[in-house]
Amino acid sequence: MSEREWNLQDKYVLITGATNGIGLAAAKAIAARGANIGIIARNQRRAEEISIQLKKQTSKPIKVDIFIADLSSQSSIRQAAEQILERCPQIDLLVNNAGALFDTLLKTEDGVEMTWALNHLAPFLLTSLLLNRLKESDSARVINTSSHGHKMVKNGFDFDNINGEDLYTGVKKLMGGPTLRYAQTKLANILFTSELAQRLEGTNITVHCFDPGLVATNFNQNNGRMAKATMAVMKLFSRTPEEGADTLVWLAEMKDVSWLNGKYCADRQLKEPTEVAADRELAKRLWEISEEQVGASLK
Ligand code: NDP
Repeated sequence: MSEREWNLQDKYVLITGATNGIGLAAAKAIAARGANIGIIARNQRRAEEISIQLKKQTSKPIKVDIFIADLSSQSSIRQAAEQILERCPQIDLLVNNAGALFDTLLKTEDGVEMTWALNHLAPFLLTSLLLNRLKESDSARVINTSSHGHKMVKNGFDFDNINGEDLYTGVKKLMGGPTLRYAQTKLANILFTSELAQRLEGTNITVHCFDPGLVATNFNQNNGRMAKATMAVMKLFSRTPEEGADTLVWLAEMKDVSWLNGKYCADRQLKEPTEVAADRELAKRLWEISEEQVGASLK
């Protein structure tokens, strides 16, 4: 380990979406550095397989905890957070990485459009529920997986139509409405990162987000044959999950990340956000709406 690295050996890292793709590659790299890990996953059997794989990444015995949650469900997130708080006296790094694109309009049990629920509200609610534990760490980080896809969004969100139903029908659907919806959630990740960092300024916690690039994973395998065929072609131009996780791991182990607090990174570099992603008023409004949607307030 160099002097420029945060010693992950003594750290406890919680990560969502570690059962596949970018999150799995990141969890393996973090386990290899000796951190204890908590994975938040929806499939117990898959989580157990991953736990075995993670323990094999290092000769030092590490602890791998499993917490089961469907991150599209607010009650499931609350239950998992309760268990996490019971079982984890220390959390140093929270990685909000799980995410997906849904090509059809699906509503969660909370009445929220699925992409928004999973990609934006889950990080928002999970972080809020774990924030006090993160505050107890000597120094803590939150890392959110965003995407270059956020650049598709030029006009922010339609807060009067927060579920974006219109994007899933008629011409808007044909023009890529569901992809725009996904892009909105990845924009929300950037705005959430900057607003949370602002609210936590002066505390022990820094907040970061990053773009993994185009990565060959299970992403978009849930949307039928056409989407699968498109992804198969895109795989030819894609990075490996390890390459996709590289900036996440860089953020996780860099000693001084204060200069990146609230910022968006890609390829191990600070990146200028788009105009809409840097809109402070939009970040504040999104925060208020998100609090209403999850019925919780982030202190
Ligand atoms: P994968 O589909 O390979 O992995 C997604 C992970 O999220 C899996 O572990 C999956 O669990 C988990 N997940 C999905 N839905 C839920 C749920 N309801 N509850 C709990 N866990 C869930 O995709 P990627 O690795 O590509 O995606 C990871 C992140 O990277 C996402 O946020 C995505 O938006 C982002 N990203 C991906 C890019 C790419 O090119 N692949 C580009 C830019 C950003 P399970 O194993 O059970 O399916």
